[in-house]
Amino acid sequence: MSYFNTGRPFVIAGPCSAETREQVMETAAALAQMNVQLFRAGVWKPRTRPGNFEGNGDEALAWLKEAKEQYGIPITIEVAEPEHIEKALRYGIDVLWIGARTTVNPFQVQRLADALRGVNIPVMVKNPVTPDADLWLGAIERMEQAGIKDIAAIHRGFSTYGKTALYRNQPNWAIPVELKRRLPELPIICDPSHITGRRDKVADIAQKAMDMGFEGLMIETHPRPDEAWSDARQQITPEELRELLSWLVIRQQHTADMSKQAQLENLRQQMDNVDMEIIDLLARRMELSEQMGTVKRDSNMTAYQPARWREIVQTRGAHAQTRMLSKDFVIALYEKIHDESIKKQLAILQAEEKDAR
Ligand code: PEP
Ligand code: MN
Repeated sequence: MSYFNTGRPFVIAGPCSAETREQVMETAAALAQMNVQLFRAGVWKPRTRPGNFEGNGDEALAWLKEAKEQYGIPITIEVAEPEHIEKALRYGIDVLWIGARTTVNPFQVQRLADALRGVNIPVMVKNPVTPDADLWLGAIERMEQAGIKDIAAIHRGFSTYGKTALYRNQPNWAIPVELKRRLPELPIICDPSHITGRRDKVADIAQKAMDMGFEGLMIETHPRPDEAWSDARQQITPEELRELLSWLVIRQQHTADMSKQAQLENLRQQMDNVDMEIIDLLARRMELSEQMGTVKRDSNMTAYQPARWREIVQTRGAHAQTRMLSKDFVIALYEKIHDESIKKQLAILQAEEKDAR
């Protein structure tokens, strides 16, 4: 049983940064009364630009140690340097996490892994800022190879060029789902605070993570969020966290209800059949595409025909809507199908060009 599978959800809460002794003690006192498994706080803060508050370092470690002794709540902090690990261990920190800006850098992750060799401590790996499942997986593998037994992934969203109106970091759920496919036993914790960047959306994303079957939540919590020294807009009060947790609907992966199981099994079989039909239809469509490629080759036409592509987008989009399907979804699907079609036709044109040379 993983360290992170105790309590569903496994809740990590606490301020973005350990600002003052009073703020740490006040927050820990409130959270220790709730269903919170780990107290989080930033001690060294990675900042986008220099000159912002960069954390209180060693002094903050002493406050966290005191909070743990006083309220019995285990502590987690972010580490970005081997020296941070050494200090965290010295101050009895219980769990470490690797931040999004560190996970992008395999050299740095390896330095941390080397410092962790032979150390028995759970480690959480935040996703890299770029939407790259391999990079995330790679950082987790470096921890495994260093002998870390308890590892969890934290999904904190991905940055995009030109911030979208709704979220600070796009959730891009397909990436944590892919990670889970590759490592089915790996607990995944969602960080709705850094995904949304705004407190009024934190509960929505927390619920979505639970509906997706994630194991835990990391939620930034501050006694007076508007006065926070970092990430003020996304933090919630301990009282708001209590309310959020009380409203969360927790679903199970499985059900003991046999008739529901049978119903699901029946629907799955139907879905398997539909998927096989979709693949057969795609194969037929590609055959047609290749035949068209031959005609285009023989009549010296280009593979890509903009007018035809416009017509496909228009007619398929319109048809999708008559079947209650999202137009955007069907067009996105057709972009992939059309791209593959064109690739096949180009191969036919290019084979002829090669023969001619
Ligand atoms: C944080 O958790 O406060 C933090 C810096 O997060 P991230 O690495 O996800 O940006
Ligand atoms: Mn933060």
